[in-house]
Amino acid sequence: MTLSADVVVIGSGVAGLSTALGLAATRSVLLVSAGDGSTPWSQGGVAAAFGDDDPDEHLHDTEIAGAGFCDPRTVRMLVEEGPQRVAELIAQGARFDRDADGSLSRTLEGGHSRPRVVHAGGDATGAEIHRALRSAVQRTGVRTVEGRVTGLIKSDDGHVVGVLVDDGEGVEQVDARAVVLATGGIGNAYLTSTNPPAVSGDGLALALRAGASLVDMEFVQFHPTVLFTGASGGQLPLVTEAVRGEGAVLRDNDGRRIMAGLHPRADLAPRDIVARAVEATMRRDGTDHVWLDATAIRPDVLRRRFPTVLESCARIGVDMLTDQIPIAPAEHFLCGGIRTDRDGATDVPGLYAVGEAAATGVHGANRLASNSLLEGLVFGRRVATALTLELRRATTGRSQTVLLGRDHEPERIREVLTRSAGIRRDGLQLETAAEELEPLGSGPLATVARAVVAAASTRRDSRGCHWRSDHPHPDEQWSGHLAVRLDHDGRPAVQQHDLAAAH
Ligand SMILES: Cc1cc2nc3c(=O)[nH]c(=O)nc-3n(C[C@H](O)[C@H](O)[C@H](O)COP(=O)(O)OP(=O)(O)OC[C@H]3O[C@@H](n4cnc5c(N)ncnc54)[C@H](O)[C@@H]3O)c2cc1C
Repeated sequence: MTLSADVVVIGSGVAGLSTALGLAATRSVLLVSAGDGSTPWSQGGVAAAFGDDDPDEHLHDTEIAGAGFCDPRTVRMLVEEGPQRVAELIAQGARFDRDADGSLSRTLEGGHSRPRVVHAGGDATGAEIHRALRSAVQRTGVRTVEGRVTGLIKSDDGHVVGVLVDDGEGVEQVDARAVVLATGGIGNAYLTSTNPPAVSGDGLALALRAGASLVDMEFVQFHPTVLFTGASGGQLPLVTEAVRGEGAVLRDNDGRRIMAGLHPRADLAPRDIVARAVEATMRRDGTDHVWLDATAIRPDVLRRRFPTVLESCARIGVDMLTDQIPIAPAEHFLCGGIRTDRDGATDVPGLYAVGEAAATGVHGANRLASNSLLEGLVFGRRVATALTLELRRATTGRSQTVLLGRDHEPERIREVLTRSAGIRRDGLQLETAAEELEPLGSGPLATVARAVVAAASTRRDSRGCHWRSDHPHPDEQWSGHLAVRLDHDGRPAVQQHDLAAAH
C-alpha cells in the first residue's frame, strides 16, 4: 500500500516537531522518525534575548562565536524571532526553571556576554522541550511512523515527490508534495560523540545524492567538556557548558588553570577556543583527558542545576561536589549542513532541510552555545510557514529513486574521520583520509565523511572550529564558503559558494 501526505517530515527532534506543529492546521503531515536524536539529550538550555536583554547583543555574540562567518540576515531572524518561539513553547506546556520571583532563570554560557540561556529541569532542557513539543504534535493528530527513511523519490522533472520508509518489517512508499529533512547532525560518523546513534547524517547523504549541495561541512564542533569514561567509542555523556557558566574551571594534571590568560572570557571563551586549548594541553602532557573543577560551586547549586551531570559522574565513581571531573573533547555539532535558503528550501525542488541538518548560515564557523535548540524552533516555524503559503502540486511520473545505501565498514570510516577531521587537522592527513575513504562504499557514513574531508582539505586556513596546523591563521583568500556536491561519479566536488546568494 502506498501512503501519502502533503508533507513528509523526517525526524522528531526540535526541528522536525516544530515544523510538523506549524503545518498541522493547514497540511496533512506524516512525521517519520528512526528514534531519539540529540534533542532530548540537550542539557544547557535555549538562548533567547528578552526583557532587559537586546537581540542585537545576542546577534553580536553569535557573530563573534561564528568567527565572522555567519550570515547576518539569518542570525537576525534567529535572535528576533527566537523569544516569541520560546514564549509559544511555554504556552504549549514547556516548563522552564524560574527564580523565586517567578521570572525565568537565565544562565551564562561560553561566548555569551550576559546570562540569556533559559533552561528546564536544571540541566534537562532538551527532554522538557521534546516532551512539550511531542505532546503538542500528538494533540494535533499528525500521523507518526517509526522507521528509517532509506530513499527519496524524484519525479521526471526533478522534484522530490516521496520517500521510502523501512519500518523493520518492510519498505513502504510515501508520496508527498514536499519532504523536509530534519535528521540532525553527523555524530555517529565519529568514534565518540555526544549525539545518540540515530544521528548518522542520513539526511545529508540523501540530499547530496538527490543533487543538493552541502555547505560549511569543515566546521564540525567538538565540545570541550565531555565526560571521560574510558570508553573508546559511541555516545558519551556531556558536562554542559553551564557548569562553567556557574564557575567551574578547567585544570591540567598539575592543577594549573588551562584557560587563564588565553582569552578574556577564560573558561567561558567560545567553544572552539576552549576545545583547542584542551586538545593542546592533552597533547603537551601526553594524557587522554584533563579536569573540570566544579568544587568551588555551592553543593545546593550543583544539585539543583545539574542533576543529569551529577548522575553521569556518579556512574563512573566521581562525586562532582568534591572531586574533579575527568573530561576530554568529543564531536558535538555540525555547524554546516544542507544548504538552504531562510525558509528551508534546498537546491532540489520539493526538498527542504531544517535544524542541525541544514545550513542557513546562522552558526558561521562555530556555533554559539544554546543557539541550536533555538534554530530548530525558529526555522522549523519558518519552513512550516513557507509550506503553508505555497506547496506545489507534485508532478506525476517517477523517474528516479535515490537510495541511502549501506555502510559496510562503519567503524573504519569513523576511525579515518576521527583521525583526520578532529579538532586539529593537516593537509597530509586529510589527503590520506580521502584515499582511505575511497574504497569504503557509498553508505551514509562514508558519504558524509568524504564531504567533511573534502571541505576540510580544500580550506587551507583556520577559522572557528576548522583548525589546520599547517595553515594556522585565517586567510582572506579563503573568506568564501565552500559547497560540496557529488560529481557524475559520485565523488565530492568542492566549490566556493556565495552564501548570501542563497537568501
Ligand atoms: C548531549 C547534547 C547536549 C546538547 N545541549 C544543547 C543545549 O543545551 N542547547 C542547544 O541549543 N543545543 C544543544 N545541543 C544541540 C542540540 O541538541 C541539537 O543541535 C538539536 O537538538 C538538533 O535538533 P534536530 O531536530 O535538528 O535533530 P535531532 O534532535 O538530532 O533529531 C534528528 C531526528 O532525525 C531522525 N532521523 C535521522 N535519520 C533518519 C532517517 N534516515 N529516517 C528517519 N528518521 C531519521 C532521528 O531519529 C531523530 O528523530 C546538545 C546536543 C547534545 C547531543
